[in-house]
Amino acid sequence: KQTGRNQFHYFTKELDDRAHFQLLVTNELRGALEDNQLAVHYQPVVNLNNGRITKAEALLRWQHPTLGAVKPAEFIPLAEGAGLIKQIGNWVFRQAAMCAKHCNEVTDGSFQIGVNKSPLQFITQEEDFDWTGFLSELGLAGNSIAVEITEGVLLHTSAKVEERLLEYRDAGIQVALDDFGTGYSSLSYLQKFDIDYLKIDQSFVRDITTNAHSRAISESIIAMAHRLGLQVIAEGVETEAQLACLASAGCDYGQGYLFAPPIPEDELLKLIASTSHG
Ligand code: C2E
Ligand code: CA
Ligand code: CA
Ligand code: CA
Repeated sequence: KQTGRNQFHYFTKELDDRAHFQLLVTNELRGALEDNQLAVHYQPVVNLNNGRITKAEALLRWQHPTLGAVKPAEFIPLAEGAGLIKQIGNWVFRQAAMCAKHCNEVTDGSFQIGVNKSPLQFITQEEDFDWTGFLSELGLAGNSIAVEITEGVLLHTSAKVEERLLEYRDAGIQVALDDFGTGYSSLSYLQKFDIDYLKIDQSFVRDITTNAHSRAISESIIAMAHRLGLQVIAEGVETEAQLACLASAGCDYGQGYLFAPPIPEDELLKLIASTSHG
């Protein structure tokens, strides 16, 4: 009995701490943009056919003066809850577009940056920042950007989502389905929407060499995607063995610590400048 009460006490205290921490983080997040605490890093994506870095994914980073580095998995849901995700998301997009411009200055001009867009950025009522207009202002082709969405965005289709996706299609902005295989696995949306890439979730890649099911799922995703005219990006590639498995299954692109972690723009530029020739 005594233990039970202690556990309960401990549990509620933990919940309390957790709620308190979330409140603190949410408040701090409001000022983080203006205070220059947010940064966008870019993780290289490697073309597995020729070993070249032809894409990168924009990933948000938050370095708080006293809390230290706060993970996106921690603060993005809070930004969504606090109605801050559009402002932050549009800022990430502008950073990513400018990075794409710089990358295209040191490559053949077909470099592409993936930008994550959370479901709430599609459905909130307020006016969206004009993404396609911003690309034209920079003189960038639409396919300099790939918008990364999760299956959930397509499952709860609203007129807004469809409208936005058509706008992307018309502007040449590409669309990647993120975390593929973990969601609702209703495949009808692959037919309904103009999707360009499937990103195999890292949970399948993690044990692709040890778990026959993960391997079968990955191989099936790749085969299906190719039959539908889509390309495949594998996430979370950490070992040579995983890479060999993916390459032999015909996977088009790989992304993961084996190649490079997310890095600041200047490091990305150096990396692609040193690898894009010869
Ligand atoms: P995601 O879109 O699935 O991003 C991939 C995550 O995998 C990133 O975590 C990346 O750092 C991590 N990663 C990359 N290579 C490896 C690897 O080899 N092994 C392992 N274990 N992990 C690897 P990160 O940066 O912590 O981001 C987590 C999630 O936060 C992202 O998942 C995405 O859903 C969200 N996120 C990040 N930036 C943004 C953003 O600007 N906007 C929105 N809406 N969401 C974002
Ligand atoms: Ca992503
Ligand atoms: Ca397309
Ligand atoms: Ca993912």
